[in-house]
Amino acid sequence: MSIQKQLLSILEDLPKHIHLVAVSKTKPNADLEEAYAAGQRIFGENKIQEMTQKWETLPKDIQWHMIGNVQTNKVKYMAPYVSLIHGVDRYKLLKEINKQAAKSDRIIDCLLQMHIAQEDTKFGFNKEELEAVVTDLKVNPLPYIRIKGLMGMATFTDNQEQIRSEFKTLKQQFDWLQTQHPEANELSMGMSGDYVLAIEEGSTMIRVGSKIFGSRNY
Ligand SMILES: *Cc1c(COP(=O)(O)O)cnc(C)c1O
Repeated sequence: MSIQKQLLSILEDLPKHIHLVAVSKTKPNADLEEAYAAGQRIFGENKIQEMTQKWETLPKDIQWHMIGNVQTNKVKYMAPYVSLIHGVDRYKLLKEINKQAAKSDRIIDCLLQMHIAQEDTKFGFNKEELEAVVTDLKVNPLPYIRIKGLMGMATFTDNQEQIRSEFKTLKQQFDWLQTQHPEANELSMGMSGDYVLAIEEGSTMIRVGSKIFGSRNY
């Protein structure tokens, strides 16, 4: 099926309040242009250099989401244009985003990444660390960042009940965050294989790559 058909078939069944991030990492501009022509405006990338090259060449009304792990020394390259950073997994990174956002005279929206999977390879805060960061931000506000919500990745497994329970944990953490930061209204949860489940469990934003663009060749 074409990119356009895949995209439209996903959108057809998507509740209207769900934001779809088309994850275009490793894909050529032509693929993004096809999704763009079908109306898609939010694209997700996991490498700052690749995202910046695409930002330079593709239409300027695209919203670029950084969904990967961010190296502190590369924040400056995306600070002028990035629309949402999903993978903020340490306080030091928030401070650097704040600093670079100030230089670009912008306020940058961020999601805090939570560690919900039973895997050591996935990054993110645990609940205690989340509480500590939120407390820190109350005492020492970072004026050039805005905490928009949470992001998480479930374990890569066929066990639906495990995935569901990890999503439930993340949703509870999100509900707690909203008591502290009422403006935090995005829960980035769900990918090609598990986004239907994620929406049932309260996701507001899904990150879908291979289901739109086909499998990736690294
Ligand atoms: C690659 C990636 C996705 C998309 O994965 P698919 O299974 O291709 O939909 C979503 N989120 C993150 C953080 C990713 O790195």
